[in-house]
Amino acid sequence: GSAVALRSVTHRYSSRGRHIDALHTLDLSISAGEFVVVVGPSGCGKSTLLGLIAGFHRPTTGTVQVDGAPVVGPGPDRGVVFQQPRLFPWLSVLGNVEFGLRGRGISRADRRARALAKLDQVGLADVAGLRPYELSGGMQQRAAIARALAPDPGVLLMDEPFAALDALTRDRMQEELRALWRDTGRTVLFVTHSIDEAVYLGTRIIVFSARPGRVVLDEASDIPAQGR
Ligand code: ADP
Ligand code: ADP
Repeated sequence: GSAVALRSVTHRYSSRGRHIDALHTLDLSISAGEFVVVVGPSGCGKSTLLGLIAGFHRPTTGTVQVDGAPVVGPGPDRGVVFQQPRLFPWLSVLGNVEFGLRGRGISRADRRARALAKLDQVGLADVAGLRPYELSGGMQQRAAIARALAPDPGVLLMDEPFAALDALTRDRMQEELRALWRDTGRTVLFVTHSIDEAVYLGTRIIVFSARPGRVVLDEASDIPAQGR
């Protein structure tokens, strides 16, 4: 089966008597281990798609499934990273990563060990005790990625995660993300408005049209794999 499956999904927003279908009868199957990049202009429905898979909202019609089960809300099987790190400012970097592991029957010591391992994976072990505001933007986003990965989600959902970073940091983090994907075999759905980023990262690229919610292209990336 598919890691992620949408069947005839329409998502309609209504405000002040106006309706817009941010997604329109969308069918989409993503297999385990794919690195899918969804690209398209602002307002084309990318965030809506990601939000439906994350469980932030329900489709108006149609079904959304992850690993064969209907999505009914956010869950530890789906890690989410946004454009802004959204770290809790009152917690240390380590505390932020541990947070995602609370309430799941994991002992305090295990939570700490797992969070430290994730921070090590993204190169932040040395700053685990700092508060988010003591870190650069790139480091904060690394911490957000570590937090999303802590529960070991099968699916990683990323909504323009590098858009707010300077170009050099972004390049480095793109490479790190691809190495992480290669090493862990996770399913990644990555949303961006940058064609360059889509082509560089994705094994499969889905292009949405400016008219919201329509897929105009869905292709395996045939760019020579640089270290894939
Ligand atoms: P993208 O992520 O590609 O920029 P979105 O999924 O955020 O696109 O939005 C798709 C369309 O739905 C846009 O036209 C946007 O204006 C509209 N939209 C998004 N959220 C809402 C909302 N809460 N209420 C009304 N319209 C919305
Ligand atoms: P990034 O590339 O993540 O945006 P910077 O370019 O600002 O980070 O910093 C480069 C390196 O300097 C980081 O990878 C980190 O090792 C170190 N560094 C930056 N800020 C701090 C800090 N507040 N505490 C400890 N080390 C830091």
